[in-house]
Order: sequence, then structure tokens, then C-alpha cells
Amino acid sequence: MEPCTTPACQSARDIFQELEEYYDEHNLYFQTISSVLEAANKLGVDRRLKLILSQPKNEIMFHLPVQMDDGSWQLFKGYRVQHNNVLGPYKGGIRYHPEVKLDEVKSLSLLMTMKCALARLPFGGAKGALKVDPRAVSRSELQRLTRRLTAALGNNIGPDYDIPAPDVGTNAQIMAWMADTYINFAESSKKVTARGVATGKPIEFGGSEGREKATGQGLIYVLDELLPRMQMDISQLTYSLIGYGNVGSWTARLLQAKGTMLKAVMDHTGAIYNAEGIDAERLAAHVAKTGGVANYTAASAISSEDFYSTQVDLFIPAALEQMVDLKHAEHMNCKVLVEAANAPTTPHAERYLLEKGVIILPAILCNAGGVTVSYFEWKQNRQSETWDEVVVDERLREVMQRSVQRVLKMADRLQCSLRVACFAAAIEHIDKVYKCRGVFP
Ligand code: NAD
Repeated sequence: MEPCTTPACQSARDIFQELEEYYDEHNLYFQTISSVLEAANKLGVDRRLKLILSQPKNEIMFHLPVQMDDGSWQLFKGYRVQHNNVLGPYKGGIRYHPEVKLDEVKSLSLLMTMKCALARLPFGGAKGALKVDPRAVSRSELQRLTRRLTAALGNNIGPDYDIPAPDVGTNAQIMAWMADTYINFAESSKKVTARGVATGKPIEFGGSEGREKATGQGLIYVLDELLPRMQMDISQLTYSLIGYGNVGSWTARLLQAKGTMLKAVMDHTGAIYNAEGIDAERLAAHVAKTGGVANYTAASAISSEDFYSTQVDLFIPAALEQMVDLKHAEHMNCKVLVEAANAPTTPHAERYLLEKGVIILPAILCNAGGVTVSYFEWKQNRQSETWDEVVVDERLREVMQRSVQRVLKMADRLQCSLRVACFAAAIEHIDKVYKCRGVFP
């Protein structure tokens, strides 16, 4: 593949060389920082800010010894990367996956900094990961692992410092174990507010109404704002979806309520298709029972190639990073790529799709609903309040609408892609805050 010669890649290369950091153009962190620097260059921000954003503030790595049910011991690798906290406490999910790598966690933490700034939430960006397949360990092993990880994180997390949330392979139960472990270590006078250490908790234990569906719900609000501008009626559209976990399955259920037709789904167990539409609720029940979309009887099994080439209006990746690469993009047959997952599109695929006229709705806008309702949960925990779902949804809609307006205004001002506009709207805010605060000393 041709080396990237864009000014953005050159800016990233210059900074990496100056810091004597290893770089590789296929590396997700290099790609993410290149996109962010493209926006920074368009805005004309000073070099100080570009340097600060180019590397995370803290990269923490652990090796956790955990006893398994059969009495044997295993060592698990974990990461917490804290990218930036100029806007407020670090905030970001914790992922459990057997193939996580430090650079992936760094990229996701940088994207969290951008996402919180774009939505104007009082948070910085972080991300964590544990190298484990959560499906391959028992519930008691998962609990011991989570408690050991939380203890190892110690004072590197806290409701005023760094607040984890669910991500790929983690859920409300894991957040409950994290918060409970943290509370056990907290001073007596801080035990009430200590549960704000994690968001995405079960409702009974300080979670927020509407948090589980929040990422999907936020995406629907973004579509409500943007589709009419593209002369598209959501009730008349078809779509395909990668991933049927939290984000994918909620997006599907909420789109079904709008009348949008799901034609094809792919997850780690296989891909399925039905020209007449796939029922989102029935598929969710099947996935809850069997662990994946494979063997769903009301649709036909198809190959991955057939999945990518299915003709749809919206193509929605809601699984892992880089699942839309150039090879897949060449087969894709959609009008709009709606990024529900973080960093699902490689830069080569993005250039190809944009040239083909596909509209790309960037992840830091589309999936900001999750962290927004996490912010609401954190706020409710601090104030010992519980908000109704209608209140949560209404406030979420306001945040998403304002974010969309910010992005459209920036795209118009800089005459740039929506991705660059998202990053620019975030960077401009961070720049203003650095200018007010200064950089210590
Ligand atoms: P999840 O663990 O609930 O679901 C992940 C899905 O990805 C599963 O359906 C799994 O089968 C699928 N998948 C995994 N490997 C795959 C492969 N090789 N091919 C096809 N599918 C595969 O995770 P989630 O919370 O739904 O997160 C999905 C994406 O959304 C991630 O990028 C995450 O960072 C992002 N995100 C999540 C939230 C949240 O609130 N959970 C918020 C913002 C962004």
C-alpha cells in the first residue's frame, strides 16, 4: 500500500520523530492522531496544543495474578491510559478482550478526550483494557479478575479523578463489582460518593435509567437531526449492522421502532440476511440465549463478503475497530456509513468511500450518547438523585442536537469532512480551556 503523504500524516510523523516514538502507518494510534492533527492544522492551533494532545498523560500497565476455579494461577495483562484531563476527570470505558493492545487503548483514550470535548461534557479522556476473553472464564473468575484489577488501579481511579464505564466485553455487573471493590477501600466519609467511581452500573446500585440503551439512543438522535438534511426518511430506510452487543442490539431495537429495516447482521459467530427484514427483538432474545447471531432461524446464513456487499441505505459498524478497511469498502453498497463503534473505518477506506460519495457520520459524534448518560449517572450519584428515563432521554437529545449543530457549523466554516469538523469542534474547545488555564508551571 502507498505510504500516506497527506499533510496530516506528515504532521504526525514529525511529532513522533521528535518524541522518538515508534510509528507505523497501519497502527491505529498513528492513524487516529493523524486525523486529529489534520483538524488541528485546519484550525491553526499552536504547536503546544498539538504536542500535548499527541501522547496520553499517563499509560499504566498491570500484570494481575488471579487464581482460577481449578486452583491454577494465571497472569492477566491490563492497561489504563489517561489521555487528557484539562476539561475534568478522565473518563472512558474498560474493555475485556483477548487481543487488546496498548496502542489500541491509547487511540480509544484520545478519542474519548475528543468525544467529551465535542459534547462539552466536564470530562477528559481515558480507556482501559484487560487481556481476557470474558466468555472463556467463569462468573466467579470474572469477579475475582475485576476486583483484582480495581485494587491494582487503586487511586488511579476515583469519582473525581478517573471514572471507568462498560465497553466491549464488560457490562453493568462488572461495573458493580468495580464500584463495590473501590467503596471497600474508600474512607468512611467518602463511601456515599465513592460509587460514582464507575458509570453504567445496575440501576439498583446507582446506575441511571436509560444508560444501557444510551449509545444507541444517542445515535438515533443524531440520525433524527441529520437524515432529513440528506432528504432521507428514517422509516423508509434499510440497514446492515456489524455487532449485536450493547450498542448494536439497542441501535437495532430503537431503529425498529422507527420503521427502519434491518437486512443483514454480522458478529463474531457469523453473518445472517433476510430480504424481508430481521426482527430486532427476536434476534436480541436469540443472542442472549446462544451468545451470537449464528443459527438464527428466521434469516439465512451468509458469508462475510456477502454481508459487506449487501445493498442498504445505512451501514452501521457497532463492533471493533478497523472493521471497514479498503478491501471491505470496495464491496460496500450503502449511502451512509454510520459509525457506532469507535474507529471502525481505516483512513484508506474513508478516502475511498468519500470519493465514491458515501457520507460518513463519525463515531465521536454518533456514539457520544453512552458517555453523555454516564455523565448524567455521575451527576445523579453526586447529588443522590434519580432521574426518570424521560428526563434522561430529553437531556440526552439536547446534548446530541447541540453536538450535531457544532459539527455542521464547523464543517461549513472549515469546508471540511464531518470527521475533521468533529475533531476541530473538540480541539477548539480544549484550546480555549488551555488558554484560560495555562500550562503548569
Ligand atoms: P459488546 O461487547 O456489547 O459487543 C461487541 C459486539 O462485537 C458483539 O456483538 C460481538 O459479537 C461483536 N464482534 C466482536 N468481534 C467481532 C468480529 N471479529 N466480527 C464481527 N463482530 C464482532 O460491545 P459494545 O459495548 O456494544 O461496543 C461496541 C462498540 O461500540 C465498540 O467500538 C465500543 O468501544 C463502542 N462504544 C460502546 C459504548 C457503550 O456504551 N457500550 C459507548 C460508546 C462506544
